[in-house]
Amino acid sequence: MSKSAAASQKGLRTPERMFRLVLWIVAVVFAGFLIGLGSLVVRDLPTVDAGVTLASFVDPGKAAVLDASIGADETKSREAGERLATLELQRQSKQAAYDNAREGFDNWIATRQSTQRSDQDPEVIRRTRELDALSAASRASEAEVEKVQATQLAIDQRLEATHRSRNDLDEGARGSYEAALNRMELRVFLIRLAITLPPLLVAAWLFVKRRHSSAWPFVWGFIFFAAFTFFVELVPYLPSYGGYVRYVIGIVVTVAVGRYAIVAMQRYLERQRLAEQQSEDVRRQSVSYEHAIKSVTAGICPGCERGFKVHEGQTNFCMHCGMKLYEHCAVCSNRRNAFFHFCPACGVDKTAVGSPPPPDATTVAAVA
Ligand SMILES: [Zn+2]
Ligand SMILES: [Zn+2]
Repeated sequence: MSKSAAASQKGLRTPERMFRLVLWIVAVVFAGFLIGLGSLVVRDLPTVDAGVTLASFVDPGKAAVLDASIGADETKSREAGERLATLELQRQSKQAAYDNAREGFDNWIATRQSTQRSDQDPEVIRRTRELDALSAASRASEAEVEKVQATQLAIDQRLEATHRSRNDLDEGARGSYEAALNRMELRVFLIRLAITLPPLLVAAWLFVKRRHSSAWPFVWGFIFFAAFTFFVELVPYLPSYGGYVRYVIGIVVTVAVGRYAIVAMQRYLERQRLAEQQSEDVRRQSVSYEHAIKSVTAGICPGCERGFKVHEGQTNFCMHCGMKLYEHCAVCSNRRNAFFHFCPACGVDKTAVGSPPPPDATTVAAVA
């Protein structure tokens, strides 16, 4: 069967399909406006981020003393570092000056020894003194560098100790901070629950009782809105308590949904069982025209809702419940869907001429 032929046999009138589509759009748009309104209401609710910080649980006096000490020592350490860099440059330049002078002196001495001129002795003394002075300056510079290095080391050690004390102070406050955070989370959650629970309960009631009513677009719009509210405005604010609450609520919700599904399935099976005890004629009357046309086209018996296999031109009755699915026209003998009101081949009104007898007893016996 081609796709368009299948669509033409679905049984819904074309404008009816359009109306359904429009009504679903109405449902979604209605949900959108409800969500917009709802988010305005919850916008000003407190969130967990606000307020509670670790710092508010630390002794402010002790914290201020330690923080001041850390600040001062950090400044001193930085200044020492800068001074050290300057002194190091000076030391290097004095060392270089001494090295150059030493090299010059060594060369000069080597020349003098080869010439052995005694008139140069005062020059030797003068140059040696100069060299001594340069060496002393270099050593003094080195000593100054070492002194500043020692100062900086002391500052850094003190800084490390102060940091440790500051961390201990924070750790000491962490217990009461986390307790306060938990209380805050719980409070935020309870406020949100108080606001979102009524719409959730209304949505659950609407789903159970009113989802097939004529106002279904609004019912479904409200259900979408409640689901959105639940997942966006409530679930992220569930207090975690290390994940316990989430899992427990997950278990409770799954059990509730599963129980609802089990009860619904049992009710459905019981309804079908009672229906199948009635005569074929009574059951045919209870099936809606649209549902019957759609089901038979899809290969599902509209009576017992089980699938039947179509053997072209052979399957006339449901092999599970005996409902007549196809029949031959009493006037033109064309085989057609037994739920059609008019014969698609000759146009005869079925209610006027009545249903034909089962066409071929051997076919029925073979199928059964
Ligand atoms: Zn059936
Ligand atoms: Zn006919």
